[in-house]
Amino acid sequence: MPVREAAPAKVNLFLHVLGRRAEDGYHRLDSLAVFAAAADTLEAAPAAPDGAGLRLALDGPEAAALAGEDPERNLALRAARALAREAGIAAPAAALRLTKALPVASGIGGGSADAAAALRALDRLWGLGWARTPRLAAVAARLGADVPACLAARPVRMGGIGEVLAPAPPLPARLGLVLANPRLPLATPAVFAARTGAFSAPAVLPETGWREAAALARDLAALRNDLEPAAIALCPPVAEVLAALRALPGCLLARMSGSGATCFALMPDAAAAAAAVARLPSAWWRWGGGLYAAAG
Ligand code: ATP
Repeated sequence: MPVREAAPAKVNLFLHVLGRRAEDGYHRLDSLAVFAAAADTLEAAPAAPDGAGLRLALDGPEAAALAGEDPERNLALRAARALAREAGIAAPAAALRLTKALPVASGIGGGSADAAAALRALDRLWGLGWARTPRLAAVAARLGADVPACLAARPVRMGGIGEVLAPAPPLPARLGLVLANPRLPLATPAVFAARTGAFSAPAVLPETGWREAAALARDLAALRNDLEPAAIALCPPVAEVLAALRALPGCLLARMSGSGATCFALMPDAAAAAAAVARLPSAWWRWGGGLYAAAG
């Protein structure tokens, strides 16, 4: 029986760049990340006896962006190999199918989400029983700084270089997100390299969280995505996306996610987000809905 896991989009509600690590130059971050119901899908099936080994097939509306790349470099397959190594499986076998709905290199962590979904799916397929254990989290951390947050797939405060996780303060029960980008990829290292100015302080968030989306938006308005100016300098249409999101009826706050170019509008609920999305230009990638709710 094939197993299926969602790989939901990570949205950074704020992202402060705190400094750089002396040892490797990686940036230290403070971020509150949530996951949208917009998602890639990763399916893992036992490989046929004649097709032993690990295989990856790609489909879906955003798969074309990865068509020219070596599948061995795909984060889903790298995650599968890393898990097999860690579990001591000498001849791992599985047929993976990745359905890409999230635009590539767009600041919503699609590749990291796919890696996390592959770990969750193969943990089930291979009967390891490592879900929610430090063992699976350690494999995730070695694959990339954002993969542990994507493995959790619930609201988290990200510290360190993104890999140190703490629970997020309680979020409003109703919350909507509109996501949009101008269909231009932005490479994360280029955006960090283009960042200028002083580093930020960590945010101070209320431990009690927020009951209403409007209260969350008010607190977020005092915070930033420190990569936004650099992303706009490299990709000026990001500013147009932000302006269009701000003009949506019901928009409580508009900001860029990650290193861009995807921006989000915080909305009172999923229905308002789904209704507003058609007002954005159809040439953009656009999505509206609620937060991802993990099973279990
Ligand atoms: P982040 O928000 O973590 O910075 P991102 O959304 O900007 O990530 P990704 O979509 O994860 O970026 O893609 C970054 C690069 O990773 C791509 O340009 C691609 O070459 C490579 N990559 C490898 N595997 C995948 C995958 N499964 N999906 C998308 N990109 C992948």
